[in-house]
Amino acid sequence: MATRVAVVTGGNKGIGLAIVRALCKQFQGDVFLTARDQGRGQEAVQSLASEGLAAQFHQLDIDDLKSITTAAAFFKETYGGVDVLINNAGIAFKGADKTPFATQAEVTLRTNFFSTRNMLTHFLPLVRPGGRVVNVSSFVGATTLNKCSPALQQRFRSDDITEEELSGLMQQFVFQTQKGEHQQGGWPETAYGVSKTGLTTLSMILARRLSKERPNDGILLNACCPGWVRTDMAGPKAPKSPDEGAVTPVYLALLPPDATEPHGKFVSEKEVQQW
Ligand code: NDP
Repeated sequence: MATRVAVVTGGNKGIGLAIVRALCKQFQGDVFLTARDQGRGQEAVQSLASEGLAAQFHQLDIDDLKSITTAAAFFKETYGGVDVLINNAGIAFKGADKTPFATQAEVTLRTNFFSTRNMLTHFLPLVRPGGRVVNVSSFVGATTLNKCSPALQQRFRSDDITEEELSGLMQQFVFQTQKGEHQQGGWPETAYGVSKTGLTTLSMILARRLSKERPNDGILLNACCPGWVRTDMAGPKAPKSPDEGAVTPVYLALLPPDATEPHGKFVSEKEVQQW
């Protein structure tokens, strides 16, 4: 049997590093810590080695399509596929950041939505039967959904929204921030929130597609919130440690082989949340 393999994006620090740590302890197979920066990634692998944990490293900058396709080709050639994919990499501007909102929208949507979508485009075909895919979204994506116009909410919650329609809506948000028209367009004032509303909706779309196109493969794909976690992104006041933040993503990544759910859900504290 082929060696099983798990891949985590943004694994060099924060929740991503804690996810890699937990997978090293619990996943039966090779665990890849990926990071956009080779030095920071190797350093993180070393820090896990000093805890007696053996993660492997591969460079992966999700904003760089070449980096995504190179990594995907590596996993295909070396392992013949991927068994667990955790899309954890993400960014957020600080509340006090003075960068114009339109720039924040473009930059945040690029990484959290469009680049994660590129990861899924290139890695989903590699996911083997029984595979698990976890997109680290946020409860902020759910609260943002509730602040969108009724028309947008209806689309994000609908069963027939396509990946193309969703991408068009995310692009429309970015364009409208550039013209200062996003509020008239029905969008709230949070680029991070919109990016995570998009990521959760994308997860639901792709899960439905997997069920339709690969009905016998038993792949489970979900979005989740790790909780409010003490990291460089969320700051020191958050209640959860990174290891605690890793619990729900790792739970979804290690759903037992005979599990049929959750699939296409938004999960927090190991519980399916309303969307
Ligand atoms: P951190 O800022 O601590 O870590 C973010 C990680 O993502 C870093 O490893 C960073 O790499 C990486 N990253 C950013 N951009 C890219 C890219 N283009 N390619 C590859 N890696 C990239 O954040 P957290 O650990 O807090 O966040 C992890 C995930 O959890 C994010 O998706 C976040 O939105 C989500 N989340 C976090 C919450 C919290 O309370 N902390 C709450 C809800 C969701 P580098 O070091 O090179 O910048």
